[in-house]
Amino acid sequence: MAVSTMLKRYSIDVILFEDREIGGLLNNAWRVENFPLLSPSSGEILCKKLKDHLSSHNVDVFNEHVVSVRDNMVITDRSEYSADRVILATGTRPRRLHDFEVSSNVVYEFRDLPADSKNIAVYGAGDMAFDSAIKARSRSMGVLQFCRGKHVRAIPALVSEARSSGVDFHSAEPIYHVKSENSKLVIETSSASYLVDGLLICIGRDARLPELDNCRYEIIGDARGEPFRQASIAVGDGVRTAMKIATEW
Ligand SMILES: Cc1cc2nc3c(=O)[nH]c(=O)nc-3n(C[C@H](O)[C@H](O)[C@H](O)COP(=O)(O)OP(=O)(O)OC[C@H]3O[C@@H](n4cnc5c(N)ncnc54)[C@H](O)[C@@H]3O)c2cc1C
Repeated sequence: MAVSTMLKRYSIDVILFEDREIGGLLNNAWRVENFPLLSPSSGEILCKKLKDHLSSHNVDVFNEHVVSVRDNMVITDRSEYSADRVILATGTRPRRLHDFEVSSNVVYEFRDLPADSKNIAVYGAGDMAFDSAIKARSRSMGVLQFCRGKHVRAIPALVSEARSSGVDFHSAEPIYHVKSENSKLVIETSSASYLVDGLLICIGRDARLPELDNCRYEIIGDARGEPFRQASIAVGDGVRTAMKIATEW
């Protein structure tokens, strides 16, 4: 997004391919408090701002999935496009627990939870897990959060917010089985069984890229596969990369 608008400022033509929603993972965020110069806002509000920013710069957004980039041709699920340069901001994919995927109520992002969920379980103890648990509480859902071990990896501010918002946190209680029962889920852990409407699995994410062959490309944001993943880092990466390309043009 940032790279597209910055390239436009250099009068370089850009097509932005997005297979889901502008803003990517940020659409899930409960509250973003660390984006410099912006007051704390939900991820949804920030993503709306991003969309407005793109349209004010007349960036063409194509809702297509990029399958591969070969010989400087971008091949999507609908067509093929030639490009002098390709910038990959394809983010990450979740680490999956295939055995637990017993129904569509088992998801890896908050926005994919069943819309009418009243009680959910969250599996994981990183920032994404805690942020999602808090967001669910802010929507009056009951939240059980399970952590396999005793180690919590999230920032203290999120952990304390989760505690005060009423997230029912179960440390060192791994999930063993998930069963689908009458459109609900039965979660069996090392200690007990619980009935919930949805299960959100947040146990880590890995960089994802389309197939690449014989092309000039740059990788920005979470797709770089570095351990620190933040929206402001992705934006900074985008601005730097656009300026680098513009000076080489
Ligand atoms: C719950 C949650 C809370 C967060 N809170 C914060 C926070 O408070 N502050 C902060 O700075 N960061 C936060 N983050 C992290 C932040 O959302 C990410 O670091 C940021 O979104 C990374 O941006 P990105 O563009 O690199 O990747 P992504 O956001 O993953 O975006 C990649 C986009 O590319 C699309 N895509 C992928 N492959 C293809 C393809 N082949 N073809 C077409 N499109 C494709 C995807 O659909 C996606 O929309 C949070 C994340 C989560 C999940």
